[in-house]
Amino acid sequence: MALKRRYLEDIEKSLKQYSGLNLIVEGNEVSLKGQWSLEQDGIVLQTYDILISIPEDYPVCVPIVYETGGKIPRKMDRHINPSSGDACLFVEDERWEIWPIGASFKEFLDVPLRNFFIYQAYFEVMGHFPQGERSHGIIGKIEYFLEKFNLDSEDTVLNILMTAESPSTQNLLCPCGKSRKLKYCHGPVVHRMKTNINSEIWNKTIFQLKERRFERRSHSIEKRMKIQEDFFNTSPLDIL
Ligand SMILES: [Zn+2]
Ligand SMILES: [Zn+2]
Repeated sequence: MALKRRYLEDIEKSLKQYSGLNLIVEGNEVSLKGQWSLEQDGIVLQTYDILISIPEDYPVCVPIVYETGGKIPRKMDRHINPSSGDACLFVEDERWEIWPIGASFKEFLDVPLRNFFIYQAYFEVMGHFPQGERSHGIIGKIEYFLEKFNLDSEDTVLNILMTAESPSTQNLLCPCGKSRKLKYCHGPVVHRMKTNINSEIWNKTIFQLKERRFERRSHSIEKRMKIQEDFFNTSPLDIL
């Protein structure tokens, strides 16, 4: 399956503003290669060699970006997947708010890609990302949900997601503890997110949150058992 013509044209159009990038079409494979410059007041702050690979099912799948000049270490805490070397541009659940399906390729370059390189350049100087930058992987997802729900407990987030799954629960009390029905509390935000987040990603996130809860609980059971064991291993005289 080749990339649809209109998407190719949209990508070509974006290159008017991004003259450092060259479009390469080889058979069904579409990519962009070149330099990404960060400029401020006409001064180039940093330049990155990059490769952007356009997936066949673009724009459902996000373009895959590589920094090929070796300026960014392949580390998860630098938002580079160590095994594949591709850049992690945003939390996948958050995509609809950053670069929704239907947005142009130019917007992809203007927003998530530009931010990615600004943050990387910031890291090079400061040794850390600016405040508010999401963590990598599931922790970044949790940060997003906590922010969206205006909560500070991962457990409560999962309780809300699990309760709100079914439409028949809208009259139940919201699990956040504010004594409001779900439909007047976290129901609408869950609905909005569920409508906009790809269902595979949505289900994966819920699964990951359930797994994490399971692990937390088994750890606390282990801990309790260890305390009990220690207690009963002690001679009654020692306890007294
Ligand atoms: Zn990341
Ligand atoms: Zn609520």
